[in-house]
Amino acid sequence: MRTRNQRTLARSLQCSGVGIFTNSDVKIRFCPAPENHGVQFVRTDLAGSKPIPALIENAVFKQRRTAIEFQGASVEMIEHVMAALAGLQIDNSRVEINAPEAPCFDGSSLELSEELLGAGIVEQPFQRKQICIEQAVTVEDESGSFIQAKPLNRSVLAIGYYLNYGEDSPVSPQCLTLEINPETWMSQLAFARTFVLEHEVEAMQSLGFGQKLTAKDLLVLGEQGPIENELRTLDECVRHKILDCLGDFALIGCDLQGYFCAHQSGHALNRELIKNLRATQQSAISDNSWKVA
Ligand SMILES: [Zn+2]
Repeated sequence: MRTRNQRTLARSLQCSGVGIFTNSDVKIRFCPAPENHGVQFVRTDLAGSKPIPALIENAVFKQRRTAIEFQGASVEMIEHVMAALAGLQIDNSRVEINAPEAPCFDGSSLELSEELLGAGIVEQPFQRKQICIEQAVTVEDESGSFIQAKPLNRSVLAIGYYLNYGEDSPVSPQCLTLEINPETWMSQLAFARTFVLEHEVEAMQSLGFGQKLTAKDLLVLGEQGPIENELRTLDECVRHKILDCLGDFALIGCDLQGYFCAHQSGHALNRELIKNLRATQQSAISDNSWKVA
């Protein structure tokens, strides 16, 4: 990923769906935005609500999902939306949403990515900032999960993920490394759905989550494999974990160059890495957001 120009949408588009945690019917509208605007969410259901910049400093803790909050307004489950925007290199967009949570769609970012591509993407006359990893940075948690960001001798972003839930899990051990760009995003990642284990669904539904969804809407993995559903690829789970990493890493607000190697990480560790990079690699951000003639 060499230096490139910033990009935005050619026109606005609207999608609708259901929020998995709040059971809300959600309308989400993606609008073009000027250069250096970044991605900002606006809660249209809250009168006078200020835009919420999708940046790591606005991230707030939520179990199993990524949420941002700014001046009293928040939006949750943004990771699959952020992944679609990052995967397609749409840097600037005002995202209007009428609910506290982004729609789940089919658990993947495919439908949204196709809609975004259909709206068209245009280049803007400013360069996109980037951070090039020059020294290895590792974050880990007490369970032994970790992510390491390492230098790479090519100007690209590569994300690798190693997943192993143990012998008794219905999810087999999987690992995959992909170079991330709009082509690999569409062909290798956008279709990969979020997944839950059967016993987790029961726990979630007892808490009131996912009331409007059935096993057909959500990839539920039981002991014998997917329930009322089929895997899109044998390694769909690890592909979704890479998708989640990409969406969470996008909260850094610029392009990343380097190799990101994740072992069993989830949203909390992804956010910690990005906070760490934001703090330690500030000087490595190439401030090249000037106007190109
Ligand atoms: Zn996810």
